[in-house]
Amino acid sequence: MPQFNVGILGATGAVGQKFIRLLQDHPWFTIQALGASGRSAGKTYKDAANWIESIPLPQSVADIKVKNCKASEFDGIDFVFSGLDSSVATEIERDFAENGIPVISNAKNYRTDPTVPLLVPEVNPDHIDLISTQSFTEDQSGWIVTNPNCVVIPLVMSLKPFNDHYGIESVVLTSLQAISGAGYPGVPSLDILGNVIPLIGGEEPKISEEPLKLLGKLNEGSIEHADFPIQATATRVPVINGHLLSVTVKLKNAPADVEEAKQALKNWKSPIAGLDLPSAPEFPLNVFDDERYPQPRLHADSEKGMQTAIGRVRSCNVFDLSYIAMAHNTIRGAAGGAILNAELLVRKGFLS
Ligand code: NAP
Repeated sequence: MPQFNVGILGATGAVGQKFIRLLQDHPWFTIQALGASGRSAGKTYKDAANWIESIPLPQSVADIKVKNCKASEFDGIDFVFSGLDSSVATEIERDFAENGIPVISNAKNYRTDPTVPLLVPEVNPDHIDLISTQSFTEDQSGWIVTNPNCVVIPLVMSLKPFNDHYGIESVVLTSLQAISGAGYPGVPSLDILGNVIPLIGGEEPKISEEPLKLLGKLNEGSIEHADFPIQATATRVPVINGHLLSVTVKLKNAPADVEEAKQALKNWKSPIAGLDLPSAPEFPLNVFDDERYPQPRLHADSEKGMQTAIGRVRSCNVFDLSYIAMAHNTIRGAAGGAILNAELLVRKGFLS
């Protein structure tokens, strides 16, 4: 089995803590270094982090001394996962890449960079080859790979089979996003309890743009983006984990009926099936016939939080199809998605 020493940048935050939880007992990756802001650097992890995961803080990290997020302090680390705040991710991630330490990031900063793969292994594994167009180091030892916004995961996982089968003409969606997506302490309780907040600042442009890169085609070292409009409304709801989306799509070639559309989802085959990646869900999509499902509380943790649940597939009076999609935002939509990206990068020989 391959073995790697890994670091986590932004280790004290909500996503950083999820990395720590998910990497416990990972068969390939061992946490050796943790980085955060100057507020945390120099403290032991147990003193620096306000641990919010529902398992006890693992002993293996409790006494690790938190470092500043500087590549020069991460000697001997094979690559880093980043759960950095976007206000600081640009410079810090570049520093690591320029110093030959690959970065597998959750932050939005490099997602639209034309040389940086925005990667979902089940959707666009071939985009990994964009790494060869990056110039952080002359010998290509340092590079950056990103995963998408947490809403984009259930969106693109559900759009992919429809795009393959029918072609997509346009998409309209409303997201009902969990409070854990806002980090910690996140949204004030008086704002969110018993309430819905009708706008999440900065979210809608990401939801409209990132799927087009993900569903784009790699052509001679660059991505030709998919070309259809996505209209998104992003709302925050009093749910702890699991972003749920109500999606309506117009297709280039409409399916004969709803049953055919459901079969397109159910029969879709993941391109990474068979690669034996430790975090890959056996069934990336769970398509419900029972109209009561999916629900965040019941299904966000399915397949260790790595599955996308789809339900209520039905015909639409305005477009072609409507449905609900849902995925765990801090696992599949953040730390778990990044770990799966790292596993694919190992299998494809980019990490060795
Ligand atoms: P968070 O809880 O606010 O954590 C932010 C982390 O960044 C903390 O570890 C913090 O360290 C560190 N940090 C802040 N300023 C820094 C500095 N100047 N230098 C070094 N480190 C610094 O945020 P989060 O929810 O975990 O999100 C982290 C990233 O992942 C963001 O870019 C977010 O957009 C993205 N993301 C989040 C989700 C989600 O569901 N939450 C999903 C997908 C992507 P200190 O504790 O020392 O301040």
